[in-house]
Amino acid sequence: MPPETDCQQVEPGGFLLECPHCRQELRVARKYSGAHVECKLCHGHFLLDPDSPASRLVGFFAECPHCLEELRANWRYRRARVACKLCGGRIQFIPVSAQPVRPGGNSGRSPMIATG
Ligand SMILES: [Zn+2]
Ligand SMILES: [Zn+2]
Repeated sequence: MPPETDCQQVEPGGFLLECPHCRQELRVARKYSGAHVECKLCHGHFLLDPDSPASRLVGFFAECPHCLEELRANWRYRRARVACKLCGGRIQFIPVSAQPVRPGGNSGRSPMIATG
């Protein structure tokens, strides 16, 4: 097996963002994507919307599937293909909003529309 194909798809484990209230960097698990969250430092509330420029996302963190170390990457690399700086393993970051396993559903970016 050629090493070029040893590229693992990795979803972010969570987000690194700046609190809009106190400007401190926060780590938020990806399950809170699209949710209202409370800053643990200043207890300010805000909406975590990764697709909104209003969200001060600075990056994300993810576990390297090769060496299992935590990696931090700039938000602009959320779709990038990179090599782990620790083990050199190849990683393809995939956005959180993508739903890779969704039987019968049509994936892709679609607005939230309530279907009957
Ligand atoms: Zn805060
Ligand atoms: Zn690694």
